Amino acid sequence: MLISRLKPEECEQLLARLRTGRLACARDNKPYIVPIYFAYEPGFLYGFATLGRKIEWMRSNRFICVQVDEVVSRNEWTSVIVNGWYEEFPERPEFSEKRRHARSLLEKDHLWQAGYAAYQVRDQRQPTPILYGVHIEEMTGLRSSPDHAERAIMAGFG
Ligand SMILES: Cc1cc2nc3c(=O)[nH]c(=O)nc-3n(C[C@H](O)[C@H](O)[C@H](O)COP(=O)(O)OP(=O)(O)OC[C@H]3O[C@@H](n4cnc5c(N)ncnc54)[C@H](O)[C@@H]3O)c2cc1C
Repeated sequence: MLISRLKPEECEQLLARLRTGRLACARDNKPYIVPIYFAYEPGFLYGFATLGRKIEWMRSNRFICVQVDEVVSRNEWTSVIVNGWYEEFPERPEFSEKRRHARSLLEKDHLWQAGYAAYQVRDQRQPTPILYGVHIEEMTGLRSSPDHAERAIMAGFG
C-alpha cells in the first residue's frame, strides 16, 4: 500500500465532489462525532441541522473537525481532514445574506431536504432550521494506492 499526501488543491477537489462527512466536536473533554451532509466552497463548509447535541456542543466550543473520505477498496482510498470553527447563521437580518447563500449551496443537491428529513424521522415536532458554516483553518489529505504487488494480485483475481 502506498500512502501519499494530497496537495491543497486535491483536498479541495475532494471536498467539492463529496457531500457526506463526519463532524467531530467536543465539550467538557468529551468527543462527539456525527455523519453530516455539507456543501463546500473555498475556505468554507456549509451545513444544515436542527437543534440537538452537536449544535449545543458547537455553540459552547466552536472548534471542530470534519473528515471526508472516498473508499474504493481496503488499500485504495482518499481522505481529507478539515480543522476549523463553527459559525451559526441565526434568523436575524444581519445574517440573512449568509443564510441565503448557505441555503442556495445546500439546495443544489437536495441536501437541505435530506437534513430536514433526517430530523423528522427522529422528532415529529416542527423543527427549527439551523444553518451554519465552518471556517476552514487547516486541511490535510492522504491517498492510499495499491502497490505493484497488490495490483498484480488484484489483476490475477480480475
Ligand atoms: C449520511 C447522513 C447524513 C446526515 N446529514 C445530516 C445533516 O446534514 N444534518 C443533520 O442535522 N443531520 C444529519 N444526519 C443525522 C445526524 O447524523 C444526526 O443523527 C443528527 O443530526 C442528530 O444529531 P444531534 O447531535 O442533534 O443528536 P440528538 O438528536 O441531540 O441526539 C443525541 C443522541 O443520539 C445519538 N445519535 C445522534 N445521531 C446519531 C447517529 N447518526 N448515529 C448514532 N447515534 C446518534 C447520540 O449518540 C446521542 O445519544 C445525517 C445522517 C447520515 C447517516
